[in-house]
Amino acid sequence: MKINLFDLTGKTALVTGGSRGLGLAMARGLGLAGARIILNGRNVDALHRSASALCNDGIEVQISPFDVTNPDAVNRAIAEIENTQPVDILLNNAGMQYREALETFPVDQWQRVMNTNCTSAFLVGQAVARGMIARRQGKIINICSLMSELGRPGIAPYAASKGAVKMLTRGMCTDWAQYNIQVNGIGPGYFRTEMNIALSGDPAFSDWLCKRTPAGRWGEADELTGAAVFLASSAANFVNGQILYVDGGLSACV
Ligand code: NDP
Repeated sequence: MKINLFDLTGKTALVTGGSRGLGLAMARGLGLAGARIILNGRNVDALHRSASALCNDGIEVQISPFDVTNPDAVNRAIAEIENTQPVDILLNNAGMQYREALETFPVDQWQRVMNTNCTSAFLVGQAVARGMIARRQGKIINICSLMSELGRPGIAPYAASKGAVKMLTRGMCTDWAQYNIQVNGIGPGYFRTEMNIALSGDPAFSDWLCKRTPAGRWGEADELTGAAVFLASSAANFVNGQILYVDGGLSACV
């Protein structure tokens, strides 16, 4: 008898920031592996469009619009979701970037970056973990970034927020492993998404990136899917507190 270690049939996966970009690609991967998908974001029209694209791929999907930085909205949404279906897999993916020189970086943007990239993972993770702890099982995947390892100009607050997510991942693992919850991170390198629109349109940057990355190119969103499915599956039952970098080898050259 053949066993598919990566089969997610019967599992429910909540993907924050799943309306586009890397979140949508990973949601599709989890769905194609058999999981029911709950797509989160703030833009309801975008969520409907992305949900119907996943439906066309034969994936069972529903949307859950809420702002991941708002504690009341998070707790309300998770309570509603858990009322009808327990969340087995949480992919904390919602994020943002704001570029400005550090010496003039506005404090309100610092707070936005921290709240969207890091506090959100704490809030949604905490709300979902309560049910996972009661059920004694769960997988949490936090989207980190190569930028917590690699110094680059103009992104110190973003890098700091992703460094915090990396340590939050280790802390969640340390506190919740006893409940059979595995918490890991994925650290993407450079992918062409809306977040990176300015960089991907800059030939000088692309040139630097392609020379510096052993694979010699940008990543494609679909190339994150394998890491997400692996960490969400029973194949990763003894993998905990790790950050898996998916970056064409760029972190190997830091
Ligand atoms: P995009 O800008 O393409 O997508 C961001 C997603 O997050 C959207 O679905 C957006 O939906 C959602 N989002 C943003 N703020 C909130 C909020 N407050 N509440 C709920 N949802 C929110 O980004 P990417 O796909 O590129 O990035 C996804 C993740 O990957 C991020 O965490 C990013 O930091 C990380 N990453 C990306 C890299 C890359 O090269 N692209 C590299 C390393 C890490 P809406 O606006 O409707 O709310």
